Amino acid sequence: MRAIAAVFPFRTNSYVVDELIDWADPLHDPIFRLTFPQRGMLAAADQARMERLLRDGAPAERVRAAANEIRGRLNPHPAGQVELNEPTLGGRPVPGVQHKYAETVLIFPRPGQTCHAYCQYCFRWPQFVGEPGMKIATDDVPATVAYVRAHPEVTDVLLTGGDPMVMGSAVLRRYIEPLLAVEHLATIRIGTKSLAYWPHRFVSDTDTDDLLRLFEEVAAAGKHLAIMAHVSHPRELASATVRAAIQRIRATGAVLRCQAPLIRGVNDDPAAWAGMWQESVRQGMVPYYMFVERDTGPQQHFAVPLLRAYEIFRDAYDQVSGLARTVRGPVMSALPGKVCIDGVAEIAGESVFVLRFLQARDPGQVGRPFFAHRDPAAIWLTDLKPALGASTLAP
Ligand SMILES: *Cc1c(COP(=O)(O)O)cnc(C)c1O
Ligand code: SF4
Repeated sequence: MRAIAAVFPFRTNSYVVDELIDWADPLHDPIFRLTFPQRGMLAAADQARMERLLRDGAPAERVRAAANEIRGRLNPHPAGQVELNEPTLGGRPVPGVQHKYAETVLIFPRPGQTCHAYCQYCFRWPQFVGEPGMKIATDDVPATVAYVRAHPEVTDVLLTGGDPMVMGSAVLRRYIEPLLAVEHLATIRIGTKSLAYWPHRFVSDTDTDDLLRLFEEVAAAGKHLAIMAHVSHPRELASATVRAAIQRIRATGAVLRCQAPLIRGVNDDPAAWAGMWQESVRQGMVPYYMFVERDTGPQQHFAVPLLRAYEIFRDAYDQVSGLARTVRGPVMSALPGKVCIDGVAEIAGESVFVLRFLQARDPGQVGRPFFAHRDPAAIWLTDLKPALGASTLAP
């Protein structure tokens, strides 16, 4: 476990440990697997190398150098985030901002680049390892606002991380308040795991009331506040604290949506998703995305093959009412865009995946079905081969 924690960041908290994990059989507990390092996350050779260094009491800088070398091979910034998504304004880069799809700008507030507890499959893990140059972040609020103002096509801003909800309310306010005056902006989204991992944030933290007032101000300014809650397992919606948190957020006029990746050994089971979607709807949240585990970090350990992912999605989807079928998935957030696996089919004697872009760098690709050869072992878009005699995958 130490060898793995030397490469991937690890952090947990009292709420996760005391209220979410069932300690009767921790190694098979979904929330334990969500938050504690486990064998298999590193390739065998890397695991052996880190164990050797730690056993031999190697100096800290050698351990760090080895960890960094391994991290560098694990695709720390998937889908071209750093090279392709960082925009410019007046010819100068705007760091800590990403703009991939026309309507939505992502902002990474510097004080929000951590989480209350870390998911072991996290695709943002380079944000936490403390190596300069690996982190995407900004504290230049005027530059982010100027960028949004200069782009009338932008309707949505997404504050992301890490988890922006680790920020104190006064700090969060610095990022949100100036956006309220941007006329063309319709929605402010906040991506957060706090609802699941630290619901006290919305109930009993010292600055909770100020936070909820800020949420109310977004609605009063005529904008939609969308809380994009990262919810991985129905158990995360079961405590009295989380229920109270959801009711308090909803009372501000904000809308909660929930999304999560499909993770082997955590939620690779239709009952978990159907339960999560049903419980979300019951508590007034809108199911939004089921993601595919991304091609970074310990992907090999946590990935579910695309074919299996599709079956789990379909088996869960057919158990819930239409109000929960707002969910879309399984979705790969890949280099060219968000690709949904819509189904499998037999076409002209060939077994194929039916795919569709929900979002694309090239907007002309959105909503057009395309096909890939049905490979039961494929875990990511880059594993797929064109089908039906096509020479490329994309539509
Ligand atoms: C998912 C995502 C968005 C938001 O897409 P929606 O379909 O509008 O939810 C925006 N930017 C990036 C980079 C994303 O990955
Ligand atoms: S909440 Fe998101 S950013 Fe934070 S550790 Fe989990 S996956 Fe990573």
